[in-house]
Parts: sequence; C-alpha cells; structure tokens
Amino acid sequence: MTSKFSAITLAALCLSSSLIAQDYKSGIEWQEPPIVTPGETNAQPPADATVLFDGTDMSAWTGGEWKVDDGVVYSGKGMVISKEKFGDIQLHIEWSAPSKVKGDGQGRGNSGVYLMGKYEIQILDSYDNLTYFDGQAASIYKQTPPLANAMRKPGEWNTYEIFWTAPRFAVNGDVESPAYVTVVHNGVLVQNHFELMGPSSFVEAPHYKVHDPTGPISLQDHGNPVRFRNIWVREIKPAVGQRTSAPYVMKDGKQVSVEAMQQEKETQKFQKAVENAVQQALKEADAEAEADAAKKESPVPEEEPAAKEQ
Ligand code: MG
Repeated sequence: MTSKFSAITLAALCLSSSLIAQDYKSGIEWQEPPIVTPGETNAQPPADATVLFDGTDMSAWTGGEWKVDDGVVYSGKGMVISKEKFGDIQLHIEWSAPSKVKGDGQGRGNSGVYLMGKYEIQILDSYDNLTYFDGQAASIYKQTPPLANAMRKPGEWNTYEIFWTAPRFAVNGDVESPAYVTVVHNGVLVQNHFELMGPSSFVEAPHYKVHDPTGPISLQDHGNPVRFRNIWVREIKPAVGQRTSAPYVMKDGKQVSVEAMQQEKETQKFQKAVENAVQQALKEADAEAEADAAKKESPVPEEEPAAKEQ
C-alpha cells in the first residue's frame, strides 16, 4: 500500500515538475559532493578527519610535557603544537577542568586552543567563575566574549566545534580577508562568524602580520591542569563547480537570460501601470459624465420671489 502510494506520489511530483513552465538554472555544473562517512557519534572523527588525539598517545604533537592516562591527556609543562599545519578547518576538541575547584578568575582551568598557533579561543573553567567577559571560556581572547556561557560543571566534559577561516594576505602584505571563526560550545552557538582583528595578545592591540596560509593548532599551558580528549580536524574545502554559462531561466522550453527575464518583468510592470492609469481616467470620466447627466435631469429649482409686504 505504502509503496504503491509512494510510486503514485513520485509520478505526480515528476509530472508536476515537468509541467512547470519556468525553471531557474545557475549555469554552474557542480561536482557531486564527496561522501564522508560520519563517526558513530558526533564526537568520533568522520572518515576524512585527521585525528590529533584519540586517547592513545601524543604522537601528532610536538613540544610540551603532557601525560596521557586512561584515554585522556593532561595539560602539562609547555605548549603542545600539532605537527601538521592547517588552513581553513573544522576542529572538534573536548576538554574538562578539574572537578576539584582551585583558584578563580583566569587562574581556574585556564588553557586555550590556538588556531594557526596565533589566534586563541579561550579555555577556562567559567562555571560560576567571573572574569573579564572577553577572557571567559569560548571568548576570542581579548577580542570578544562568547554569545553565551554554555559551561558544564567542573569535571564534566565540554565540547568545542570550531569552524575556522584563515586570513588571506596580498603579496604586498595587505589583509585581503580577515580570519573568521564560528564556535559551538556544548551544542550552543557562542561565536557566529566572528571577524578577528588579528592574533591574540595579552599586551598589544590585535593587528595582523603576514603569515603562511597554514599553521599548527596549539594548546596552551597556563599552569592549570586541564584534560583533553577526542581531538580531530577536517580541512574545509569549497564546493567545486564550473560555470558553463551565465545564469538563465528555462521558459516554455526556451533558454532566456536573467536580464531578459528582468526586462520582461519591468515591461509588464510598466504596461500594468499604464493600464491602471487608463482605467482610472476612464472611471473618473464616467463619473463626471454621470454627474453632469444627473444635474440636467433634476435642475436646481429657482428661488421663489419674496412675498409682498402687506
Ligand atoms: Mg588561555
């Protein structure tokens, strides 16, 4: 019953789409998007991801003395830097501040994810822990606070999904386009395509300096113990297509340019306006004629002469 219904529905849909007399075409031949098998859960790396830490070891990293224990890595002495360099990426990273709360403000569960080794997304235990807002968890350090504080309690795991667009520099060093970042913290959007002013600095105003189109991911040692797990990254590659013609509209089986369609619309609009104006003028003329005719049929009676005085 269901399959019969589906077949009929599909046939009806095909028929109705073939009957549509107008159909916009972009003029771009798109390549089929690659098939990426996702992880079993959204925390697990998709098939095309580069895994930077899966709980086994820190072989994808250099620098720092960070210890792996029971599937997690503990921040230790010195910053750790990924051996591989990246440009535009999607980065998944999970982190947790110690369950035993120690310190406050910037001194509690402080670490950080540095994109391209320069641009910090703050890691901090911001659960019931006030600090300057552009320095709390998920802030772009000293550039903007997060849109919300989505912290889980100390000891619980936090997730950042980071979507990074690297800055582009012209040959002469000018910023062609700045860096942008979108961050989702525990499923909550906390940075929405934020335009960075430059690399993070504690002491200087942020400003861009030319750097390579790719850079490593670094994790900060701020002297506070923070745990990490499930770190993986995917390169963001744009959709691929080739323009084969200007955009056009298929209308009644013919290819019509978008400009011609626009022109046609304008002409129709003009014709309609003229038509309306003529209709209005005719209506007004009719009303006037009717009023004249009515006047003739029932002329205004002359005033009666005043009664003679007696
Ligand atoms: Mg930090």
